[in-house]
Amino acid sequence: MIYINKNSLKKDYKRKFLEINGKELEDGTKEQQYEALGSLIRDYVAKEWLNTNNKYKETGEKQVYYFSMEFLLGRLLGSSLMNLGIRDICREALLELNIDLDELENLEQDQGLGNGGLGRLAACFLDSMASLNIPGHGCGIRYKYGFFEQKIIDGKQVELSDNWLRSGNVWEIQKRDKSEIVKFGGDVKMETIDGKLTFTQVNYESILAIPYDTPITGYENEVVNTLRLWSAEPVSNEFDFSSFSRGEFLKAIEYKNSVESISLVLYPEDSFYEGKILRLKQQYFFVSAGLQSIVRHYKKYNSNIYELDEKISIHINDTHPTLAIPELMRILLDEEKLSWEEAWRITQNTISYTNHTILAEALEKWPINMFKKILPRIYMIIHEINERHCKDLWNKYIGQWDKISRMAIIADGFVRMANLAIVGSHSVNGVAKLHTEILKKKEMSDFYYLYPNKFNNKTNGITHRRWLLKSNPDLANLLKETIGEGFIKHPMDLLNFEKYLSDNNVLGKLRNIKLNNKVKLSKEIYGSYGIKVDPNSIFDVQVKRIHAYKRQTLNCLRIMDLYNKLIENPNMDINPRTFIFAGKAAPGYILAKNTIELITSIANKINNDPIVKDKIKVIMMENYRVSLAEKIIPATDLSEQISTTTKEASGTSNMKFMMNGALTIATLDGANIEIKDEVKEENIVIFGLTANEVLDYHNNGGYSSWDIYNSDNRIKRIIDNLVDGTYSYDREKFRAIYDSLLKYNDEFFVLKDFDSYIRAQEIVNELYGNKLNWQRICGVNIAHSGIFSSDRTIKEYATGIWGSDVLYKNL
Ligand SMILES: *Cc1c(COP(=O)(O)O)cnc(C)c1O
Repeated sequence: MIYINKNSLKKDYKRKFLEINGKELEDGTKEQQYEALGSLIRDYVAKEWLNTNNKYKETGEKQVYYFSMEFLLGRLLGSSLMNLGIRDICREALLELNIDLDELENLEQDQGLGNGGLGRLAACFLDSMASLNIPGHGCGIRYKYGFFEQKIIDGKQVELSDNWLRSGNVWEIQKRDKSEIVKFGGDVKMETIDGKLTFTQVNYESILAIPYDTPITGYENEVVNTLRLWSAEPVSNEFDFSSFSRGEFLKAIEYKNSVESISLVLYPEDSFYEGKILRLKQQYFFVSAGLQSIVRHYKKYNSNIYELDEKISIHINDTHPTLAIPELMRILLDEEKLSWEEAWRITQNTISYTNHTILAEALEKWPINMFKKILPRIYMIIHEINERHCKDLWNKYIGQWDKISRMAIIADGFVRMANLAIVGSHSVNGVAKLHTEILKKKEMSDFYYLYPNKFNNKTNGITHRRWLLKSNPDLANLLKETIGEGFIKHPMDLLNFEKYLSDNNVLGKLRNIKLNNKVKLSKEIYGSYGIKVDPNSIFDVQVKRIHAYKRQTLNCLRIMDLYNKLIENPNMDINPRTFIFAGKAAPGYILAKNTIELITSIANKINNDPIVKDKIKVIMMENYRVSLAEKIIPATDLSEQISTTTKEASGTSNMKFMMNGALTIATLDGANIEIKDEVKEENIVIFGLTANEVLDYHNNGGYSSWDIYNSDNRIKRIIDNLVDGTYSYDREKFRAIYDSLLKYNDEFFVLKDFDSYIRAQEIVNELYGNKLNWQRICGVNIAHSGIFSSDRTIKEYATGIWGSDVLYKNL
């Protein structure tokens, strides 16, 4: 919250522009105008940032550090202005200078340092921590290239590099004086000094880690926390030209490139793990730099290293930062000279871990030989942790070798990161009730019975500031007019909106707001793709990473089925629908890329068929990212959350959609279950296998997709359509999808759930027929979305995991 009036803002802005560009505002480009505004806002933030840091030093409050390989922040200008409480006066000030604030906000490059839900969760958490006065900071990697930019060319995904720093980044501050050295490779020298066995790394390679800090502003509360991202550089960046022969000079450049490759690019895989050396280096790089800087800062203001766990919490977002456990041990043992027992107590108390997935293909494990070579000292420490852990297991589970080997940290030639994370932390949480139950009872049941008190649930959330206030201002205004502004600080107050849902006037306003948002999106679609869509049609939306378990194919198959029905019966009475897709496929994920081709081929066929032209349209929007999500979600009528039950740990776009007044069609997976419990059965449409049915098939078999293919004519026809030239002259084009459904027995139960999905879509159709009731349902969803604010989630983390009363004094 800063106090400034329109005229001073105008004056400051003009001065800033002149300072940066050496010319008058009117002569600048839009990009220069954006940059000057961003710099000015960062200046405004700087003072609160300093004050916040000084306050933390004075009070000695416990500090939380959220370690994550990904932070999917999106754009910062609009949200910073909003959090400072000056977005409206800034809009007015700029208008008087003939500048459109929205236009400048749209010029900002998304900060896209994440793949999807996991990275976006980290961003929502930073926002909630700052807004709840919690001293919580982010620690990650400053990738030079973020998540790739997706283009769709000839119906196929093409990946372009995301050079997001091309025109600089007004939000970050490089802190070269706070650099750290990270050590790779070499040997460990063991010697006895004063009767104590000590370990020293020798012959290692030093890499310089440079921090870049981004201010994270709280909502109108004068709190500014820090996101610290690390960038890799050679320790010495200077070349002595005279002493280099040509060969040496080139070698030096090669070396520089190899060092900088550590923070060069984000791995574009989501819920998939590949054991690449560079990825291991990335993980250790940011974890080591982050921990060294945290301990250094701690020691500057605290003399007693034994109290570190009372003053610091380190949270690891999935297993990617698990090396925080052995790295903190290394610092405490080798540098602080603590005993193993003391170091272990502090480490366990300091670290907590969130599990994000039960997909087997996402579980991280590193080959021992690779690991040892790159991180010899860290390997020794993990080895010792494992020895002690297994000794406990031997004593407890006498003779149960299978169980012990399942629970070991090092086994079968691999270091298993999830097991290390569980053993080395004091808290393990899942991200939705069902997910946590599966962790406890199935995936991690051995550990749950060993440490029942470590396991807990923290259902994910989203920041309602970005996903409602900022992205859907008209809806936010209607809420303010009806229930008042209280919900901004207390999102559970949204429940009060339910009272207004018997007021047809309010329902009419809801309808107009949605229609308006749909008109805006329609214009965007027309502008980008030249396709006219009808804002009065149902906007039926599935936007998320393209992945077999998320079942974009199921969505495709029912569109194909509907198309077949419409061709047979062009006068069929349906509500017109616009099917909107967006999402990126990992570059090496053939099936997912094939799914994009299927979507675009269906779109091509349907959008050009005059028989169905006023009834259905299919749109694949390019380059899904936070800023695009902010445009699509407020314009959505129907939210598609159709993952194979048990596979989606939580989902978070499901929450964004309901908060913006969409009806959800969903399987009973992840947080969909909790959404259903909140809004009640009649305000959501549920279909598909239950978790127990899926688990039963997994355990006992008994599913045959061929049987379904042979017994259901609709299904036979659409599956045949995949390879009969209906959607492509090249009949082999969708072979990968065809095979996954039949030859490989449909691992994700697409055909099994098809009939139930079609019937659920018919229910949606009927519901849409009653306009007032539809609006009421949308209103109920909005009213019940408060519990899915990440403010609720973060309060639960603060009280239940980070556990310090300082943390929640203000809650
Ligand atoms: C919220 C969000 C996600 C997560 O979507 P799910 O449907 O929960 O997988 C992914 N990408 C972006 C850009 C998001 O904003």
